[in-house]
Amino acid sequence: MMATKKTYTVEIICDVCKKRESVRERESQSFIDTSCATRKIGYADEYGKFHKEDKQPLLVKNLDLCPECREKAYTKIIAETSQMFTTESYYSFLSDEGLMTK
Ligand SMILES: [Zn+2]
Repeated sequence: MMATKKTYTVEIICDVCKKRESVRERESQSFIDTSCATRKIGYADEYGKFHKEDKQPLLVKNLDLCPECREKAYTKIIAETSQMFTTESYYSFLSDEGLMTK
């Protein structure tokens, strides 16, 4: 007996640039779970104000990355900013944005 299979679409979002990819069943995806070097650089409080955290250790994290970000992640550290009171984190390449401002 054959079970009826529904086709489904999975949406994958790049953790760094927030680009989206929709992957239908059995199609291959280009956004891949990738081991990256990340460092937490601070957090945003409930008013969105950034608080810098120094001397955080370098961590290896698995992030869903698009092909462009994956290529960058080979040679660059990804900065993590967490959001106070949530489990959300914001990831960006250190050199891309002025995140390191005082
Ligand atoms: Zn990306």
